[in-house]
Amino acid sequence: MANIVAIVGRPNVGKSTLFNRLTESRKAIVDDFSGVTRDRHYETAEWIGKNFTVIDTGGFVHGSDDVFEEAIRDQVHIAIEEASAIIFMVDVTTGITDLDDEIADILRRSSKPVYVAANKVDHAKLHHDSAEFYAFGLGEIYNVSSATGSGTGELLDAVVSTFEDEPEDDTTLAKYTIVGRPNVGKSSLTNALLGVDRNIVTPVAGTTRDSIRIHYKQFGHEFLLIDTAGLRRKSKVNEDIEFYSVMRTIKALEDSDVVLLMLDANDGIEAQDINIFHLAEKNRKGIVIVVNKWDTIDKDNKTMKEFEARIKEKIAPFTDIPIVFTSVTEKQRIFKTLEVAAKVYENKTKKIPTSKLNEVMLQVIENYPPPALKGKYIKVKYVTQLPGRTPMFAFFCNLPQYVKDPYKRYIENKLREHFDFEGVPIQIYFRQK
Ligand code: GDP
Ligand code: GDP
Repeated sequence: MANIVAIVGRPNVGKSTLFNRLTESRKAIVDDFSGVTRDRHYETAEWIGKNFTVIDTGGFVHGSDDVFEEAIRDQVHIAIEEASAIIFMVDVTTGITDLDDEIADILRRSSKPVYVAANKVDHAKLHHDSAEFYAFGLGEIYNVSSATGSGTGELLDAVVSTFEDEPEDDTTLAKYTIVGRPNVGKSSLTNALLGVDRNIVTPVAGTTRDSIRIHYKQFGHEFLLIDTAGLRRKSKVNEDIEFYSVMRTIKALEDSDVVLLMLDANDGIEAQDINIFHLAEKNRKGIVIVVNKWDTIDKDNKTMKEFEARIKEKIAPFTDIPIVFTSVTEKQRIFKTLEVAAKVYENKTKKIPTSKLNEVMLQVIENYPPPALKGKYIKVKYVTQLPGRTPMFAFFCNLPQYVKDPYKRYIENKLREHFDFEGVPIQIYFRQK
């Protein structure tokens, strides 16, 4: 179950400031590596051990003033349908405006948990001013200052308390999802896989799930294809709204093991694709990049390599990702895509025997040990793969706090070199022995 928290409200109340605060640490990491991903409106966050995705709805409103209010209303409707919880942000320095009232009216009619955050309460003396927001009839008012962070802890405590517990997964089959911008060929691929005879598919609609799982079993492949597009919509909001498709993508992604990120060869990889890529990486999903419409490209024997190089440059530093070039309409490499996805799933779920791991990695470390710090030597005693749904390795040593990131990256590269984790994010921990 994807826990999505949508921050709604009119412009300038402080939505993006709160968003940045909630996702701060992770954003900083991403910004180190590339400039392209700065403009992000959704991001994973964590509070008291609960993971969720935060969406700043303000980031999805574009266009002139007259379409503005309409767009905001649409977003509120979509948030009600798709989010797990909604933070309705208002501004204590301006008080209630007409648009605030309108938004509150829509929210009052929903059954989703709504938290009213009175922002810009930078000083205790403003606390009383926020009392007017009780007039919304939406319950408790949370006084916050997104700028300083004050009050945001209480708000988050309340928000995460409504999350449902992750249901036990009832399947051992691999779950794939095809994501990508509109028109890249996602439904064409789905149809090509499922064939004309749609009877081979059994939609397994879970009770609490937001997506349909299609059971695929043919030509030696068996998996569940996570499909959100096929779901019937509850209200009449325009499906082409970017905000809506992002919500659906996040949900499909969180329910899957391997994400097939599809691109149109004519457009290459764009900012939106990179956002999805990073979200998949953060959520520790297996990833395959599918470059579709390869039939429409003029090519020689270097074109594929050049394409690959350009994509890898954009997704750095995590570049150990398989890239498949397909033409769905010409039926080129469709099954190759499945094979690659299956391999990534295998890489994600395999367990390296401890003896093998130690034999290889202790040698690697001996050849190039962690640099000594303050005259102290770091001695790694042994290595083990931790249990989990994704590859995690613990390196036990005397001074784990002295091991720096460049060395961890070196270790990660060596693990990839020796054991093949293509397409899979891996975690490395140095721990006290
Ligand atoms: P959004 O349009 O709702 O995303 O609003 P922004 O996050 O862009 O903030 C609008 C303005 O309010 C900016 O100038 C922010 O610096 C300011 N702002 C945001 N949060 C606070 C706050 O807690 N206190 C004060 N005093 N100003 C804030
Ligand atoms: P979606 O929005 O991502 O589901 O994209 P669709 O599957 O609806 O495809 C959008 C358009 O691209 C349709 O007209 C498809 O026929 C076309 N298309 C899909 N795959 C290919 C391909 O490999 N080559 C070419 N030339 N066209 C394709």
